[in-house]
Amino acid sequence: MDSQPFKTPLANILVIDDTPENLHLLAAMLTEQGYKVRSVTKGSAGLRGAAAAPPDLILLDINMPEMNGYEVCQQLKESDRTRDIPVIFISAMNDVLDKVKAFSVGGVDFITKPFQVQEVLVRVENHLTIRNLRSSLQEQNARLQQEIYERKQAEEKFAKAFRSSPSPIAIATLSEGQFIEVNNSFLRMSGYCLEEIIGHTAAELQLWISSQKYATTIAKLLEIGSLQNYEMEFRTKSGEVRIVLFSAELIDLSGTQCVLNIINDITERKRLENEFISLVSHELRTPLTSLIGSLDLLSTGQLGTLTAKGQKVLNIALTNTERLNRLVNDILDLERMKSGKITIQAVKCNADHLMIQAAEAMQAMAERAGITLVTEPVMAEIIADSDRILQILTNLLSNAIKFSEPGKSVWLRAKLRGDRLQIEVQDQGRGIPANKLQTIFEPFQQVDVSDSRKKGGTGLGLAICRNIVEQHNGDIWVESVLNQGSTFYVTLPLA
Ligand code: ADP
Repeated sequence: MDSQPFKTPLANILVIDDTPENLHLLAAMLTEQGYKVRSVTKGSAGLRGAAAAPPDLILLDINMPEMNGYEVCQQLKESDRTRDIPVIFISAMNDVLDKVKAFSVGGVDFITKPFQVQEVLVRVENHLTIRNLRSSLQEQNARLQQEIYERKQAEEKFAKAFRSSPSPIAIATLSEGQFIEVNNSFLRMSGYCLEEIIGHTAAELQLWISSQKYATTIAKLLEIGSLQNYEMEFRTKSGEVRIVLFSAELIDLSGTQCVLNIINDITERKRLENEFISLVSHELRTPLTSLIGSLDLLSTGQLGTLTAKGQKVLNIALTNTERLNRLVNDILDLERMKSGKITIQAVKCNADHLMIQAAEAMQAMAERAGITLVTEPVMAEIIADSDRILQILTNLLSNAIKFSEPGKSVWLRAKLRGDRLQIEVQDQGRGIPANKLQTIFEPFQQVDVSDSRKKGGTGLGLAICRNIVEQHNGDIWVESVLNQGSTFYVTLPLA
């Protein structure tokens, strides 16, 4: 039998046998196979040797003077240092009881003398392999224990951060949207107790004012994996509306896909911000109106004729004052809409009429900019505030014209989509970078900081559009390819 493939290289073997011939025979045979062999003739010497430099395996005779093999084995098993060394007994005693005793004191095998060389080699090799496997299992086990410990530590850290975070945090399943864990800050902000939340969904509790916006936000989350600081309106148990920044991450909890929501309540900050903006805007309105009146009067020439240079300066002053006036009006408009001071007056109206009206209003601007305006309306009735829809369409058309080069076209078209009308404003302009597609709908967000100065805008148009669309239970979004153009979509409920 060839034992080569199982060879454990350079294993250390200790042979303890009081018969010198046996000892020599075993030592020679094992050395020839490439093992390192130490041999001793006394049990006590064997114990000392094993303790000083533990071998990988021990071949042990039973019948020896002073201390027999059983006692040697027992002592080996009592010490931590030598306990795991496999001991193979080699003995001329062939009684079953002897063998049983050999195993009961901790031996792993028993070879009867006179032995066959090949048998000894195979058994030695087998036990060395078992020992190696056992020690690698032990190592693996220790590694796993360490990993479990580190994971537990990490979990504990996360659990602490979760529990003590001042920001409301909630974890819900992705498939059903059922809450499986929320922290105390979330309970405080929402006004619910734990039992009222766990197992329920945001939809059941009507936590989000616009369920549609929440659905679009979650769709976005699925698309990109994480969301940061989306402004949303949250309804507490008492019905109070809180303005929050909503961030979310997809996480895996024991194989279940979940959404980790972190909420930042900015209601107070927003209130102060709005209060400040509206205060300043109100204060600015009166002097601005008087300023525009005076500049207009100057431009009529009733107060004397201006030189050409004077007229140029006056024109600059007028353009800028008008822009400032637009800004102030837009701020006040948005603020009144958000605070619910103006609500929409939705009635049945013809979408095609509104589209044609909007296109006519923008025709002059398009011509000045060298843009071809193409209108493709559909006959459809919608429930809407016609003035406000006109405001949206003219705003989108004005942006499409503003951000396109002369010679290009702008399309205003509409399509029926189930119970909704989808209006599209498409241009062949400079496009919008992917990371700005959402933010441009926030107040004062522009792709380029110089846009308002160069293009005369206020950075509020799209925020106003979004507000109006939401009040109509509609949706607004944009798709764009840089340097090729953008398409703004507005969906509104059909009558
Ligand atoms: P503004 O008064 O600056 O036009 P809006 O809120 O209407 O304010 O638009 C915000 C910003 O979005 C613009 O300043 C511009 O950077 C970008 N934008 C809007 N519409 C378009 C468009 N059709 N093509 C390219 N960029 C656009």
